Amino acid sequence: MMLEQFSYNYACPLRWRTVSVIEPATQQVLVDLQLANIIDVANAAERSAAAQAGWAALPFNHRAKILRKAAELLKEREELFNSWNIRECGSTMTKAAWELEASYEHLHSAAGLAGQPHGTIIPSSTTGRLNLCTRVPVGVVGVITPWNYPLLLAIRSVAPALALGNSVLLKPAIQGSCCGGLLISQLFRDAGMPEDVFQVLPGEADVGDALVRDTNVNMISFTGSTAVGRSIGSICGGLLKKVALELGGNNAFIVLEDADIETAASHGAWGAFLHQGQICMQAGRHLVHASVMEAYANALASHAKALVAGNPYVDNVHLGPLISDQQYQRVNSIVQASIAQGAVMRAGGPGPGLIYNATVLTGISQNMPAFTEEVFGPVAPILPFDTDDELIQIVNSSPYGLAAGIHTANISRGMSIAARIKTGMVHINDQPVNAEHNVPFGGMGASGSGGRFGGPANAEEFTQSQWVSLSAKPGAYPF
Ligand code: NAP
Repeated sequence: MMLEQFSYNYACPLRWRTVSVIEPATQQVLVDLQLANIIDVANAAERSAAAQAGWAALPFNHRAKILRKAAELLKEREELFNSWNIRECGSTMTKAAWELEASYEHLHSAAGLAGQPHGTIIPSSTTGRLNLCTRVPVGVVGVITPWNYPLLLAIRSVAPALALGNSVLLKPAIQGSCCGGLLISQLFRDAGMPEDVFQVLPGEADVGDALVRDTNVNMISFTGSTAVGRSIGSICGGLLKKVALELGGNNAFIVLEDADIETAASHGAWGAFLHQGQICMQAGRHLVHASVMEAYANALASHAKALVAGNPYVDNVHLGPLISDQQYQRVNSIVQASIAQGAVMRAGGPGPGLIYNATVLTGISQNMPAFTEEVFGPVAPILPFDTDDELIQIVNSSPYGLAAGIHTANISRGMSIAARIKTGMVHINDQPVNAEHNVPFGGMGASGSGGRFGGPANAEEFTQSQWVSLSAKPGAYPF
């Protein structure tokens, strides 16, 4: 990786301080990041608002061309982005490469979106009048992202928002600010983005908070934890500001008694351990029919034991490190507390440095923290169930409602379970970690505000409706 290729040339005229971005695998300082401050936010938002009208007034194909160019530059800079993703976020090459490809698809998808129909003609009850219901840009969109998929989770909001004529201010997580912030800034600049239409503001919670409260910012697109999302949602509610919230999850992976157990265990391992379990859609609750519980637990433990963890920048490993010592301690304390309450560790547990091995727990009960909490680590607690009614009750007992997976040979039984589950996404004969750029993505309940990203949902999310009526000549009113 060429660290010197990294540019600090982003739109933050004032800087108060720096923060070191630490490589989780080695604890080495990767870069001293210059942080924006709240004055930078106010200035950037003012410039963003000033630039937005001109950007929206451009012919759609001009915006599309810049997004397509950004997509091609992303491919050209694949190695740079992937290296930062691996070193900054502890991603494996498999994860980083998938994330880059998905981001590339989102950029092209957004380019296509720019030229899509943006309204409908609706009949009028008044003779000689035409009703146009058009979608217009929201204005300035503030995007706040987490560190786990920093590139994709930025691009999936930034690209459609820009395509539809909004200007964008991006506040990435500190850990992820390079791969998911500054490199994206450089990408769009090199793709020909007009000045101030897209700006990146690396900073901590105070910068995010200033963005949420700034009166020049018309919408917040937030991806992150439920706790922070709840607070942002309430601030936006008070300010009557549009908000899209994509939040945490504690996702069910369901194995019915007629499933192929070896295949289910392979899917369960992928869903639970990919990116060290640090995924909102992670399979965090394995619900297995009691008659196949022991067979599944044995198969999943074998998969877990075969996974190699280490430094993904130097070795070809299945799991990298957890993101921080704080996260490592949190994962371990949840596992240990569950063991103290009777859980049995069938595989995994703490490793060296920030490595946490792929962990399988049985002897689980519904009130153990490994089962109730979003662990955000490579932990797979397994709970048996006997009937479909009991299963549905357990799945829906979580306040989260992001994704679920169901393994069964009986598709219609899978469909009827899916219909009763309160999650935004259900995958039959697959595991919960799934995303496609052209399909609306999002959760229910504590996993989100009901907004969706992807495909047809983007046009709705990043625009607002305007009714324009056209009368051939003015009508007559009673007075
Ligand atoms: P987080 O702590 O909520 O942080 C997310 C972003 O919000 C970061 O940029 C953070 O800045 C910023 N932030 C923190 N406090 C803020 C405040 N008061 N006002 C404005 N911004 C604030 O989440 P995380 O730990 O980075 O990410 C993990 C969480 O994200 C998990 O719960 C996971 O499930 C969820 N997630 C959800 C999805 C989805 O699509 N549903 C996808 C990925 C992740 P800092 O850089 O200072 O932390």
